[in-house]
Amino acid sequence: MVVAGSGIIGASIAYHLAKSGASVTVIDKLGPASHASRGTFAWLNATWAKQPQHYHALNQEGVSQWKILQQSLNLPLRWGGSLEWFESGARQQKLVGQIAQQAGWGERARMVDADEMIRLEPKLNFHGAQQAAFSENDGAIDPVLTTQCLLDAAIEMGAKVQFPSELTDVSYKTGRLAGIHTSSGNIAADKLVLATGAAADVAKCIAHVDIPQRSTPGIIAITRPMPRLLNRIVIAPGIHMHQRDDGRVVLGEQGGPPQNEAHAIRLAGRPNAFPDRALAAQHAARMLAVATRFVRGISGATIDQVHIGWRPMPLDGHPVLGPSPTRPDVYLAIMHSGVTLAPIVGQLACDELITGTPIERLEPFRPGRNFELVKRY
Ligand SMILES: Cc1cc2nc3c(=O)[nH]c(=O)nc-3n(C[C@H](O)[C@H](O)[C@H](O)COP(=O)(O)OP(=O)(O)OC[C@H]3O[C@@H](n4cnc5c(N)ncnc54)[C@H](O)[C@@H]3O)c2cc1C
Repeated sequence: MVVAGSGIIGASIAYHLAKSGASVTVIDKLGPASHASRGTFAWLNATWAKQPQHYHALNQEGVSQWKILQQSLNLPLRWGGSLEWFESGARQQKLVGQIAQQAGWGERARMVDADEMIRLEPKLNFHGAQQAAFSENDGAIDPVLTTQCLLDAAIEMGAKVQFPSELTDVSYKTGRLAGIHTSSGNIAADKLVLATGAAADVAKCIAHVDIPQRSTPGIIAITRPMPRLLNRIVIAPGIHMHQRDDGRVVLGEQGGPPQNEAHAIRLAGRPNAFPDRALAAQHAARMLAVATRFVRGISGATIDQVHIGWRPMPLDGHPVLGPSPTRPDVYLAIMHSGVTLAPIVGQLACDELITGTPIERLEPFRPGRNFELVKRY
């Protein structure tokens, strides 16, 4: 089998396939975690935005599976939960209802008061907010190191990893997949997994299925290591933050880019980096200024990396998982929240690929469904 794409999804599928004894080759047109899995905030969660309940449940399984994988692979994951609140009173009120629903769905989530907020995050200034949602189960990972760990483990179990190697075409013999064509040569394959993220044209050309996506960009800025400032994932008004075990603080911007012509031109080619260091520094400084409103001691941070990530986002916000309706030997695995979902998706995709038996709870996520625009956040 060949897995095209060595982001966190392709790496997890390859890991599970190799663990099941399958012969697997992973290819990537650039290299491991070079796209969304690098420019991601990497929050592991099953929060209120994960709707409806069957999708929420899949995310809960993702979080649980990370805890199991962490033990067997010694992964760079950090737990401690998340704290989230809003500035608007009406939005806070809505959050209370959303958290009650979460608790009803088995999530360890509850509203906490101002005293507990300070106890949980002593270095934060909540600017008078009186309550926040505390989701105890959440964590965050270093997505680049984790992707590499999964690939290394797959290699140890016999998988091959090849890059730069761009999937360009497939060949068929008597109606079955026989091999794939890449920029670095041909590879024999009876099954192909497309874990190619936001590259929507790949599904169209190779799997002959149109997955409508509304991929949106987000900026991630990462500081040099700092003394401990944050214990948990903090979803504050205007900024998302967490601090890794190595001391680096990860900042994620909440809003998208301004809707103007200059940005439309700059973003047309879906860049993963800024055109120059000055522009990258300017965007990171803006994010750091927002973080400084909330975190005492972060203002002197040195920014080490700034990424532009493009979310692989099927129109309805849900994963696309399963064989192409027209080319059943080509299996698609394209999704947002892929960092949370990677371990469970890796396991379920592997089971379907190896046994050929469809897993019923994946039915809502099949590539042949009708896609309708749903915006949840
Ligand atoms: C700003 C931002 C914040 C996010 N925050 C979170 C979060 O907090 N929690 C969460 O769970 N998720 C989050 N996500 C989503 C998550 O990062 C993605 O769902 C996940 O990284 C997708 O992984 P992937 O492996 O499918 O895609 P990618 O990491 O994009 O990997 C796809 C790979 O396919 C390769 N490829 C493409 N075309 C070809 C080809 N023709 N041949 C060979 N290789 C090819 C690319 O080079 C790439 O390496 C966020 C995303 C962004 C952008």
